[in-house]
Amino acid sequence: MSAAQARNAVLEELIAKDPKQFRVLTGDRPTGRLHLGHYFGTLHNRVRLQDLGVELFVIIADYQVLTDRDVADNLTEHVEELVLDYLAIGVDPARSTIFTHSAIPALNQLMLPFLSLVSVAELNRNPTVKDEIAHSRQSAVSGLMFTYPVHQAADILFCKANLVPVGQDQLPHLELTRTIARRFNDRYGKGGAVFPQPDALLSSAPLLLGTDGTKMSKSRGNSIALAASADETARLLKGAKTDSERHITYDPATRPEVSSLLLLAALCQGRTPQEVADEIGSAGAAALKKTVTESVNEYLAPIRARRAEYAQDRDLLRQTLREGNERARAAADATLSEVRAAMNSHY
Ligand code: ATP
Ligand code: MG
Repeated sequence: MSAAQARNAVLEELIAKDPKQFRVLTGDRPTGRLHLGHYFGTLHNRVRLQDLGVELFVIIADYQVLTDRDVADNLTEHVEELVLDYLAIGVDPARSTIFTHSAIPALNQLMLPFLSLVSVAELNRNPTVKDEIAHSRQSAVSGLMFTYPVHQAADILFCKANLVPVGQDQLPHLELTRTIARRFNDRYGKGGAVFPQPDALLSSAPLLLGTDGTKMSKSRGNSIALAASADETARLLKGAKTDSERHITYDPATRPEVSSLLLLAALCQGRTPQEVADEIGSAGAAALKKTVTESVNEYLAPIRARRAEYAQDRDLLRQTLREGNERARAAADATLSEVRAAMNSHY
């Protein structure tokens, strides 16, 4: 068992015992519709935690769209698509807070003292930022790209979240958030802790691959959206990258593409990837893709139906955001006051 898996097991036990001691913050960039990587990487966990009684904050990170492109195109449409996805998978706005980053000025103010707590060398080392720079659509790397993990620390700490259900790409950012919380407490806490050091909670699919065999991402044209039609899903999966070996086996280290497809079918069917692999065996990649397509379409059918219903009610989407922004603003204002007092800015 890896250290991350061991920590996950401890966290799950603590959550089951006392869900009320946890507050979750997670979110997404409004760069397109959510996909299966999001669902099995983090969304499923968000709803599960909410339903266990954990308080859930979901941030729509609109400022962060500008990290890897010059202009945030179709922002309103993308934001509303995200809210639709959240409602369809079961995020309940009566219990959970869905809000947009840019509507919470006090949250962004936290970034300034946080920036002072990290070195340029630390920012330079971040492997996820390096990968994102490699896939960036910008001609030059902006300051926002370079500093967005600090922005993300403010996203998490403004509401004092102590649990963050994320995919694997977020682990370096979570580590930085923990460092910032610790340094702030050491420097300004006067012996107490202003901020918790939040834990990442990984799912059993922390890195689902897209149809091209790299991380499934909204911006890479390799994803299967939750909202895709059954036919579109079939077409995309038919074109998914596999390998030249006919016999299907589950081996994530040497056969990442085939194994990611097996994992996807297994998660939809509630079985292990090994079981799915044994069943397909020598029937080969075409049979694997057929199984994955059927499993995904069956699993997503009720989510897709709910999404289509919510899409009829745009007022509900806007109301959800208005109320969420108000709740998030109150939390951010309270934290900012506390931070300013800790830093002796009383005026
Ligand atoms: P973009 O390409 O615009 O960056 P994205 O698909 O990477 O989009 P984000 O909004 O950056 O999505 O990430 C939202 C959350 O979903 C994060 O917690 C991230 O870890 C998780 N996530 C994204 N892609 C995957 C994936 N392929 N497998 C598992 N988790 C994922
Ligand atoms: Mg991303």
